[in-house]
Amino acid sequence: MDDARRDEIAAGLAEVERRVEQACRTAGRARSDITIIAVTKTYPASDVRVLAGLGVTDIGENRDQEAADKAAECGDLGLTWHFIGQLQTNKVRSVVSYADVVHSVDRSRLVDALSREAVRQEREVGCLIQVALGGGEDGGPAGRGGVAPGEILPLAEAVTRADGLRLRGVMAVAPLGGDPGEAFARLYSVAQAVQKEHPAADVISAGMSGDLAQAIANGATHLRVGTALLGRRKPFVR
Ligand SMILES: *Cc1c(COP(=O)(O)O)cnc(C)c1O
Repeated sequence: MDDARRDEIAAGLAEVERRVEQACRTAGRARSDITIIAVTKTYPASDVRVLAGLGVTDIGENRDQEAADKAAECGDLGLTWHFIGQLQTNKVRSVVSYADVVHSVDRSRLVDALSREAVRQEREVGCLIQVALGGGEDGGPAGRGGVAPGEILPLAEAVTRADGLRLRGVMAVAPLGGDPGEAFARLYSVAQAVQKEHPAADVISAGMSGDLAQAIANGATHLRVGTALLGRRKPFVR
C-alpha cells in the first residue's frame, strides 16, 4: 500500500469528519444520524480499500462500468454500494448485481426495470427518488436531474408496490449557483411529505463536498462526498 496516499486520504477524512461534527453541533443533531458516502468515481479500487481500512462503510459511484469493476475488486470488504448517477435501463442488470441503493430513481420505466432485475437476481435494492430542486428561473431541473414535485408521490408509490425494491427516501443535488440551504430546505419538506405516506422511507441524501453543512442543517441523513476525501477529480475524458 502507498503510505503517502493513505495519509492523504486519512487527512481528507479527518477534515470531513471535523466539518460534519461541527455542522451537527450547530444544527443540534447527533453525529450518528449522518452517514458519509465516499464518492470514489474516477479513483481506483485501491482508494476504496484505503477508505474501508479507515472505517468508511459506504461507497458511491456514478458510472456503471467503473462501479462494477470496483465492486468486484472490493467484494471482500463488506461495503454498501450506492449508485448515484443517471441510470439508463440497459445498465440496470449490471447495477442491480452490486448496488445496494440506487439514489437516482426518476421515472416509472426505471422502477419497472429495477424491479424485474431485483426479482430475477433475488436481490433487494433500496431506492431513493431523485428530486429536482430547480434553480432554473422556471423552477425546472436546471440540468441536475430528478423528478418534478408533482410526480414524486406517485413514483414513491410505484416503488413501494414493486417487488424486489424498497423505498428508502429521497435524494437531490443542489442547483448550480443557487443557495444550497434554501434548496435543501425544500428537499426536506418533500421528504416529510414522502415520509407521511411511507414512514420507513427516512433517508435524505443531500450534501456534497461544498455544501455538506447546509445539508446537515436541513435534515440530511446521507452525504455524498468525493473531492473533500480524495482530491479534485481530473476532468473526465471520453
Ligand atoms: C460526484 C458526485 C458527488 C460528489 O461530489 P463532490 O463535490 O466531489 O463531493 C455527489 N453526488 C453526485 C450525484 C455526484 O455525481
